[in-house]
Amino acid sequence: MSVLLTGGAGFIGSHTAVVLIESGYDVVVLDNFSNSKPSVIGRIEQITGKPCPCEEADLSDGPLVDAVFRRHDFDAVVHFAGFKAVGESVEKPREYYENNLIGTLRLIEAMTRRGVKRMIFSSSATVYRADNPVPYYEDFPLGATNPYGWTKVMIERILCDVCAADPGWGAALLRYFNPIGAHPSGRIGEDPNGIPNNLLPYVSKVAGGELPLLHIFGDDYDTPDGTGVRDYIHVMDLARGHLLALGYMRDRRGAFPFNLGTGKGYSVREVVAAFEKVCGRALPVRVDPRRPGDLPSVYANADRARKELGFTARLGLDEMCADAWRWQKRREEADGATAE
Ligand code: NAD
Ligand code: UDP
Repeated sequence: MSVLLTGGAGFIGSHTAVVLIESGYDVVVLDNFSNSKPSVIGRIEQITGKPCPCEEADLSDGPLVDAVFRRHDFDAVVHFAGFKAVGESVEKPREYYENNLIGTLRLIEAMTRRGVKRMIFSSSATVYRADNPVPYYEDFPLGATNPYGWTKVMIERILCDVCAADPGWGAALLRYFNPIGAHPSGRIGEDPNGIPNNLLPYVSKVAGGELPLLHIFGDDYDTPDGTGVRDYIHVMDLARGHLLALGYMRDRRGAFPFNLGTGKGYSVREVVAAFEKVCGRALPVRVDPRRPGDLPSVYANADRARKELGFTARLGLDEMCADAWRWQKRREEADGATAE
C-alpha cells in the first residue's frame, strides 16, 4: 500500500513515516520544508533502513502537486501539512487560511483527479468549543477561538462535505491532543524554529541550558495544583494511531472523527516534576500571569478510538519526558551527522 504524507518531514509526520515504513507501507513524503529540514528524511531512512522518497513541493502549487500524483500511484494520503502556531495565526490570519485551506483544497483536487479518495487528516483538540466540559467527546459542538483553530474546523467541514458529495470518499479526522516525546532512538523529534510556544519543547530547552527558566502561565486555575492541565500523548503512540486509522479507512466511506489522546490530564507542575526526574536536576521556574486564551483543563474521552480503531496509548508521561530529553541531548549531534 502506497501512502503520501504531506508535511511528512515535520514532527508528527516524521514519526508516522517511521511507523508506516516499519509496518510495510510504501511512503512518499511531500513537504516544502517551511517548518522542517530536509535532513529529517535521511534520519527516517537511518532508523528504518529503508528508502523514504521525498518530493519537495508546496501544496498550494496545484500543477506541482498534480505532477507528484502522476509520478506515484497512491492508495491514501495522510495530510499533516499546515501552519500550526496559534499565536502567529492571530497575527497572520490570511497566511494561515491561505496555507491551510488552499493547500488542502489543492490536495483534494489532485486526489480526486487521480481517484485517490482516502485521507487521514491531522485535526486537533482545538476544534472543540471552549465552553465544552471535559473530557471532550467527538460529538461535542465545534468552534474555535483563533484562526488556526478555525482552519481545522473548516477543513473538517470540507472533508465531511466532500465525503457526503462523493460516496467513494473516506476521511478520518484525527483530533490530536498534546503530542510530545520523540523517537526512542533520539534521532528525530520536535525541532521548532526560534523560542518554542509549547510547554514540552520549552521545558527541554530549559533542561538543556538553552533557555534560562520556564514561565508557568498561571497557578490560580481551578485544577488540583492551580496550573493548566492537558492530555499529553507520546508522538510514537500518536503515529501508531495513524497506522490504525489507515487500516480502519481501507473499507470505509464517509468522515470519522476520532480523539487521539490518553484520556488523562497532567498539570504543568506534574510535567516539570516528571522532566526533572529524567534530567536529574531541579528546573528553574517562575509563575507568570495566565496566557490569554488558555483553558484550565483539556483532555479527551478516548473511548471511540479504543473501540473503533483498537487504539490505546501505551507510553506514559515518564517515557514522554525521557524520550524528549534524549532527543534534546542528541539533536545537535544528529544535525551534524546528516548535514547536507
Ligand atoms: P510541523 O510544523 O512539524 O509539520 C508540518 C509540516 O508541514 C512541516 O514539515 C512543514 O514544512 C510542512 N508544510 C507546511 N505547509 C506546507 C505546504 N503548504 N506545503 C507543503 N508542506 C507544508 O507540525 P506537526 O507538529 O508535525 O503537526 C502536523 C499536523 O498536526 C499539523 O497540521 C498540525 O496543525 C496538526 N496538529 C499538531 C499538534 C501539535 O501539537 N504538534 C496538535 C494538533 C494538531
Ligand atoms: N505552558 C506554560 N509555559 C509555557 C508553555 C505552556 O505554563 O512556556 C502551559 C500552558 O499554559 C498550558 C500547558 O502548559 O496550560 C500546555 O501548553 P501548550 O502550549 O504546550 O499546549 P496547548 O495550550 O496548546 O494545549
